Amino acid sequence: MSWDKDFERKNPCPCGGSTYTVESYSDDWGRNEEKWFMSCHICNQTHVLFTNDYYDSGLSVSSNFWVTQQSLQNYKTLVEDFSKIQKDTINFLKECYLDQWLQSFTHLRSKKAIWERLSSTLGLGISLPTFYKHCTNVQEYLQDLFRLQFVKKIVDILEVSNEEITLKFKEIETKEAEVRAVKAILIKNGFR
Ligand SMILES: [Zn+2]
Repeated sequence: MSWDKDFERKNPCPCGGSTYTVESYSDDWGRNEEKWFMSCHICNQTHVLFTNDYYDSGLSVSSNFWVTQQSLQNYKTLVEDFSKIQKDTINFLKECYLDQWLQSFTHLRSKKAIWERLSSTLGLGISLPTFYKHCTNVQEYLQDLFRLQFVKKIVDILEVSNEEITLKFKEIETKEAEVRAVKAILIKNGFR
């Protein structure tokens, strides 16, 4: 499998004094890829490449932008904060309620019964055969469900919500919105 270079183009750089180069590649599967190189030594010191990966109508898309080093650093710091808040909250909830969560499954005698319960209460969203494949160790599987996607529902199911937990979830939501907003600005101000 090889990538063929289809074309190369030069565009003006952010400062306008020089250019950056885009090399466009494709392979036999019809996949496309671009490589961007900054030729301007001034912009090379102030700007870095930011790749925005997202899905559009089920297809994975990557678009590149030149952004200032400072703005990328600010964004990365925010993403790290967001990730830390999530981790801390999950760890806190695990410490307090993991045992209770595991206990609530001990009366179920089969993996099928566990899958049924997880499907109806958590909206697990996977088929029974897939569940069998993934769930080789029940304890570990149930423990792994303590992640952002499910943890709110787990708190509801166990009926353990309190003011502290509500505040923590609120904090995650706020930070997530902040990450989204800062990313949108990063892209809006991105140069291409
Ligand atoms: Zn430049």
